[in-house]
Amino acid sequence: MVHNTRSMGFDTFLGNPQAVSIVRDMLAGGRVPGALLLAGPDGLGKKTLALMLAKALNCERLRDDFCGECRHCRKADGMLTATREDLDRRRQMKDSARRTEGLVYFDLQLVEPITRYILVEQVRQLRNIAYTRPFELRRRVLVVDQAQAVHWQAVDLLLKVLEEPPDTTTLILVCPNSFELRSTIRSRCSQIQFVPVEDAVIASLLEKEGRVNASRRALAVRAVAGSVAKAKTFDPAEFERRRKPWIDFLEVVGRAGKPADVDWRVLFDSTKALAEDRENFEDTLSMGYSLLRDLVYVVESNDDARVTNVDLLPRFKAWAPRLGLAGLEKLKDGLDGAYQSQIRNANQQLGLEALAIDLLAR
Ligand SMILES: [Zn+2]
Repeated sequence: MVHNTRSMGFDTFLGNPQAVSIVRDMLAGGRVPGALLLAGPDGLGKKTLALMLAKALNCERLRDDFCGECRHCRKADGMLTATREDLDRRRQMKDSARRTEGLVYFDLQLVEPITRYILVEQVRQLRNIAYTRPFELRRRVLVVDQAQAVHWQAVDLLLKVLEEPPDTTTLILVCPNSFELRSTIRSRCSQIQFVPVEDAVIASLLEKEGRVNASRRALAVRAVAGSVAKAKTFDPAEFERRRKPWIDFLEVVGRAGKPADVDWRVLFDSTKALAEDRENFEDTLSMGYSLLRDLVYVVESNDDARVTNVDLLPRFKAWAPRLGLAGLEKLKDGLDGAYQSQIRNANQQLGLEALAIDLLAR
């Protein structure tokens, strides 16, 4: 065995140590239930842990872990790669009727939404193979990611499998919020709850990834809000790019005194920049909401500890008196309006300018 050189195993899992130890205890005691539910916000590694468990259930060398090197571990990796390629291929199909044609499930299978939903045909296939013996591995493991997206017409089918647990198969459901599942489904699974990862773990991950320099790390830790996935992909330049026009916008509406003091040029440039990226307008808006939330903390409770954009605290405090709670209320209505109107393809720049004028007129 080459324990010391492997970079596999549960030790590589970041955050949520309580979830990892529950899983390892189950494995060590040979008490992994037939149906598990991993729940908690996106980006915490629920699916990753589910797949690790699937490998550990099959590893030829280790009992409460997986080696990544034995025949079963390598087979499991191959199955996962093939599954992912198959899902991608199906998602790209133009002809929706063909998306579920010829579904073949491996002993280790990831079941994910192909459209907005996990389709009836996918769950039917799950049920068909759940009661059969695995071909190549010791145990079948079916991981249903985004289980809340199982099509309503397929929920009963899934429930039937949970009600008559197959003895050859472990079923692992993964979802952000267990209350989005029907209670009959929820109650048949042993639930493992994931929580946002501690700031210290995120900070050291950001340091290791090396994309965020030390002066920006506190901000990045707050911005990714305990999500390992977000920490791994956090792009400080992109973050600044998205935030800059909001800062300009708020600088104008948050500081202006007399109409003559208003820097209309900066204001119009900012609304133009905000409205420009139509494709990602939702991201732009969520940045706006994040700044609004921070301002509410500062204005309402002077609660700096909850502020995400920590580097902007002096500015928040400068804008707070001018905006006040009434101004923030207006800002929120403006963001809500922009959120709703993006569906109607409205002119967002005009909307934001109207909002600015409204705020300045107070
Ligand atoms: Zn192994």
